[in-house]
Amino acid sequence: MSARRGWRNSAACRGQDLVLFFGPGEGEPRETPKQKEARTEQAKQLCRTCTVQVECLAFHLQASAAQYGVAGGLDEDERRAYRRRQQRKAARERRTP
Ligand code: SF4
Repeated sequence: MSARRGWRNSAACRGQDLVLFFGPGEGEPRETPKQKEARTEQAKQLCRTCTVQVECLAFHLQASAAQYGVAGGLDEDERRAYRRRQQRKAARERRTP
């Protein structure tokens, strides 16, 4: 593992079932919206205890990272919204003399 991804060694989710963060896999029964909400909240609670949440979020805001599931304490919609806010802020700062 590269040093850039060394933060993963301290991840609170290390060894946890990935279903908690990404939901059921292909071929598995789909979850209801209510089940997804409960699962997502449980994953976010674990993220809130994680000492590398900042590093994890920064990594998962990159385009090359998985664009679904909970990561860095945010779900995919929240990460998309966060990314859009960052882009708008960067654009505003470029326009400001
Ligand atoms: S912030 Fe959440 S998804 Fe990221 S490493 Fe920590 S527990 Fe895992």
